[in-house]
Amino acid sequence: MSKPPPRRFAVIDGTPAPETPVEGTLKRLRKQPRPPSLVRCPHCTSAAVLEIKIGVELRNGKPRGGQKQLICAPCFARGETRILY
Ligand SMILES: [Zn+2]
Repeated sequence: MSKPPPRRFAVIDGTPAPETPVEGTLKRLRKQPRPPSLVRCPHCTSAAVLEIKIGVELRNGKPRGGQKQLICAPCFARGETRILY
């Protein structure tokens, strides 16, 4: 029976690499809230939207729950349902 060889090297938790100025700037920019922008349909570029609900349940005779979604109004008038958000 032979003894296992002694461990010569082991992985340790080192100090993280220093942050470059670019990384610091990118981190700060990602934390900032995004500026407001118009919700537009990617197909017809219209900004008119309809809010619909999917999966509404009837509980005690009243509609409850469901998921709200925004769809494009002009596309819906043409018979296409394009979910925007
Ligand atoms: Zn559209």
